[in-house]
Amino acid sequence: MLNGFLRLTDQAAYIWWSRAGFGDDYVLCFFVVSSFLLGSCLGSFLNVCIWRMPLNQSIVTAPSHCPKCDTPIRWFDNIPILSFLLLHGRCRYCKATISKRYIFVEGLTGILFALLLVKIGVVQQPPLTLLAYYTMTMLCISTIWIDFEHRLIPDVTTYPAMIFGLAISAAFPSIWGVDNHLTSFGMALISGVISGGVLSLFAIIGQSIVRKEVLGWGDVKYMAAVGILLGIPGAVFTLLFGSFSGSIYGICGALYSGKKLAKVAIPLGPFLAFGSFIWMFAGEKILRWYLGFFSA
Ligand SMILES: [Zn+2]
Repeated sequence: MLNGFLRLTDQAAYIWWSRAGFGDDYVLCFFVVSSFLLGSCLGSFLNVCIWRMPLNQSIVTAPSHCPKCDTPIRWFDNIPILSFLLLHGRCRYCKATISKRYIFVEGLTGILFALLLVKIGVVQQPPLTLLAYYTMTMLCISTIWIDFEHRLIPDVTTYPAMIFGLAISAAFPSIWGVDNHLTSFGMALISGVISGGVLSLFAIIGQSIVRKEVLGWGDVKYMAAVGILLGIPGAVFTLLFGSFSGSIYGICGALYSGKKLAKVAIPLGPFLAFGSFIWMFAGEKILRWYLGFFSA
């Protein structure tokens, strides 16, 4: 049923979950639903990060509370998506409106997690690649919101993504298509150093030419994390897409506001994050298309 729904050809239907004995539709549905639930729970955690990290507040110690009346939020009012709907988007005690961002981020993370599971199965990527993709998704979503609102990509988001990326590379070499733990760890490390290194060169050269900061160090660390989690081709695409779409946004912003282009502040992070998303969903297609130019 699901294979038909996905419009898969017989060849494409030969996917990892059928090889792994997950060919049963119910089992597959179970995995898709589980991914959605996992995503919405982690989306709920991301909401806390997006709200507290730019303010340098701890994401662990202080329990969630209503920003208006300060009443601690009980566990049953903290269930992703469901609580928001049951409370009609209002605080149970003071009836203050809760930002729609909460349910949006929870739903979005859940949907992306489920879609990535399906994508990985269809193109037969190693199942554990999901760990890298889920980490990347969380970094992308927090970057889109925090960088857009506060013009910064906090170290508390990029460093854990890098460390987790290196750890899963060392533990699961299949993510890098090899079977040696040290090799896969080395590949992740080198990809991160090259991706972050190239961008830090841009940052240093740019700064010495125009005598002001052209690239934030948050962007450099974000790119290092992309190198570790998605590899060098993913990092190259993220950078090209991010700088191109960011420039178009800047030019449109300058035309619209009548300011000089140099005066328009463009947060690069969200555009890089969109680039990383596109790569996770269509990277293999883009890579094959590009390599096709040389195989004539
Ligand atoms: Zn309240």
